[in-house]
Amino acid sequence: APVIVAGERQVRSLCPFCGVGCQTVFHVRDERIVRVDGADGPANQGRLCVKGRFGMDYAASPQRLTVPLVRREGFPKRHDFGRVPDDWRDAFREASWEEAMSLAASGLARIRERDGPRALAGFGSAKGSNEEAYLFQKLVRTGFGSNNVDHCTRLCHASSVAALLEGLGSGAVSNPVSDVRHAEVIFLIGANPTVNHPVAATWIKNAVDRGAKLVVADPRRTELARRATHVLQFRADSDVALLNAMLYTVIEEGLVDEAFVRDRTTHFDDLKAGVAAFSPEAMATVCGIDACVIREVTRLYARSRASMILWGMGVSQHVHGTDNVRCLIALAMLTGQIGRPGTGLHPLRGQNNVQGASDAGLIPMMLPDYHRVGDAAGASIFETLWGVALDREPGLTVVEIMHAAMAGSIRGMYIMGENPAMSDPDLSHAREALASLECLVVQEIFPTETAVLADVILPASAFPEKTGTFTNTDRRVQLARQAVPMPGQARQDLDIVVDMARRLGLDWRYAHPREVWAEMRLGMESIRGISWERLEREGGVTYPCPSEDDPGHPVVFIDRFPTPDGRARLVPTQLVPADERPDDDYPFVLITGRLLEHWHTGAMTRRAAVLDAIEPEATAALHPDELARLGVASGGRIALRTRRGAIELYARADEGMPRASVFVPFAFAEAAANLLTNPALDPDGKIPEFKFCAVRVEPAAPA
Ligand code: SF4
Repeated sequence: APVIVAGERQVRSLCPFCGVGCQTVFHVRDERIVRVDGADGPANQGRLCVKGRFGMDYAASPQRLTVPLVRREGFPKRHDFGRVPDDWRDAFREASWEEAMSLAASGLARIRERDGPRALAGFGSAKGSNEEAYLFQKLVRTGFGSNNVDHCTRLCHASSVAALLEGLGSGAVSNPVSDVRHAEVIFLIGANPTVNHPVAATWIKNAVDRGAKLVVADPRRTELARRATHVLQFRADSDVALLNAMLYTVIEEGLVDEAFVRDRTTHFDDLKAGVAAFSPEAMATVCGIDACVIREVTRLYARSRASMILWGMGVSQHVHGTDNVRCLIALAMLTGQIGRPGTGLHPLRGQNNVQGASDAGLIPMMLPDYHRVGDAAGASIFETLWGVALDREPGLTVVEIMHAAMAGSIRGMYIMGENPAMSDPDLSHAREALASLECLVVQEIFPTETAVLADVILPASAFPEKTGTFTNTDRRVQLARQAVPMPGQARQDLDIVVDMARRLGLDWRYAHPREVWAEMRLGMESIRGISWERLEREGGVTYPCPSEDDPGHPVVFIDRFPTPDGRARLVPTQLVPADERPDDDYPFVLITGRLLEHWHTGAMTRRAAVLDAIEPEATAALHPDELARLGVASGGRIALRTRRGAIELYARADEGMPRASVFVPFAFAEAAANLLTNPALDPDGKIPEFKFCAVRVEPAAPA
C-alpha cells in the first residue's frame, strides 16, 4: 500500500509511458510530484517499472516551454542539426497568447483559402488523452477540411491494425495481457516486453512460474528467452517464412480445428494453397530454425488447451508487416485459439494512448470507431453529429505527409505533442520537409527537434497536469487526473485546440474533457456505455461496452467476429524481402527500437533525472564477436553509416544480438538512429521499415 507522508496529497492517476496502462498514485508536495507508487489497477495490481516509478520529474524540468514563442522575422529554419542547438531560442521571440494564436490560425487559414484544405495536415499525439485526440482529428476534418491527420500509430502498429481489420473486423486486441495467466502456451514474437512493456513482462514471468510454456521468437535473444521452453532466434526478415512453415505444419499434421475453420472462417482453401510451398524443411535454411523445432513448437501451440500470441514492433515494422500479422491471425484461426481466456491475439501497443487515439479517429483513413472515411453510413454518423459535410477521400499518412511537404503540396502543419523530427525514418529528409513548410505550428511541452523548426510554438500541458481518459493496450479506458498545475503561461492542450478551432471559424464550446467524452460516446458505439461517472467509480472499463449496464468485454470474438458475415478471413502471404538488403558496402543489418529507461524520442525520459543517470549516452548493441572483428572494445566508439546518413556512438557488447546486426535505440538526438533508417513503407499499413536496413559499421575515434 502507498506510504502516506504528512504534508503530501495523493492523486490517483496513470503512468504516462507505455501502453500497459499501469495505475499510479502521485504523491504531491509543494505542487510537485515527489514520489510515485503503483495503484491497484487491473493492468498492474500495484506494480510499476522504472519509468513509471522514477520518470515523472520530467514534468518539472526547467526546460519546459512556459510562454508562447514566434519565429523572428526572416530567421532561417536550420534543419541540419544533431541535438537541438543551444542557441535555438535566438530564432524566437516571446509573444502573448493572443498574438501567437492569431499568427498560427491566420497562417493555417491563409493556406487553406489559397491552396485548398488538402494543403494542410495535422499530427496529433498518442500521449494525449482520448478527448485531445478526438478534438484534434475533428479540427483537421472540419476546420482544415481534409483527412490529412495521423499520429505515431503509423510508426508502430499500423500494419497490425490493417491485418486485424481485414481479417477479424477489429484492430484491437482480443484478450488482455493479464490473460497469460490462463494460457498453457504463450507465443511471443518480435517483442521485448522486459524493456518495452515491463509490467506486462512480469505477468508473463508469473505465468511461466506457474507452468505455462513460453515460446520466444525473435532475431535478438531477449531477456525473456531465459524463461522460454523454446527460443526461435530466426533470421531477421524471415518472419513470413517461419510463420508460413508453422501454418504448413498445422495443415499437414492434421492440427486444424476443423469445426472452427468451417464455422468461423472463410478462404481456407486459398490459405492452404498459399502455404503449400512452405514446408518447415524448405524454410529451415531461410529462417535459420531447424524443421523439427518448427514442427515441435507448432504442435505445442496448436494442441494446448489455451495458446496466446503476443507481438510487438519486430513483427509490424517491416515492408511485410501486414503479412506477418496475417500469418499470426491465420495461426490462431486454424487452431481455434481465440475467443476464450488465455487465447487470442495481442499486439502490445506502444504509447500509453495509441489505442485510444486510433479509436478516436486520429488516422487518415478512419473516422472515430473505425468507420472508413469513404463509407457513407459511417461518415453520416459524424456529419450529423458535427453538422458539416466531410471529405470522403482518405488523407495522407505520416511519411506521405513529409513527402508532400517536400513536394510543396502540403504547405502548413499543426503538430500537437509529436516529434517527427526524431521519430520519422530518414530524418534528414523529414527535417528538411518540416523546415520547408510555410506555416508550422507546434504545440509542445519541450523545445523538441520538431518545435525548433516551427513558426509558432504553443506551450502545452504535461501528463500530470491534465485530466482525461486514456485507453491501454487491453482496450481498457481509464481516467488520468490532474495532479499539479502547469508552469508559467502553459495551457491545457484541449483548450488550445478549442481556441484554434474557434479562430478557424468553428463554433466550439467545451468547458471540460467530460463534455468531449460525452460527445464521443454519442458517435462511438464501442464506448457508449462508459460514462465519465462510471470511470470515476470503477477506475476502468474495457470496450466494447455499448450500454451502461454492460460490464465491458476483456475477451472478445467468443462466438463471432465483427465482420459483415461474422467470420474471420484467412489471407495467404508470400515472401517479400526487406526493401534494402545488406551488401558489400553496407554489410550489417540495422535494427532500431527502445531502451528500458528511455521512452520513444527521449523528450520526456531524457529529462527525468534517474532515468538519464542510468542511461545517459547513446549506445549501439552488437554481438561481442562482431566487436572483436572490428577491433572495438565494449564501450568504444563506432560509426554507423547508411545510404541516408551517419552517426557515431558507443558500442555495447550484447551476446543476444545476431551476427552482422546492430541495434540502436532512437531516443538519442546526438546520435539519432532515424538519420539512418529507410522510409520504405508496408503497402497496406504504410509503416516504415524501422527493423531492417543495410548499414556499415566501423571503428570511430574517441569522443
Ligand atoms: Fe508505465 Fe508501462 Fe512501466 Fe507500467 S509498464 S509503469 S505503464 S512504462
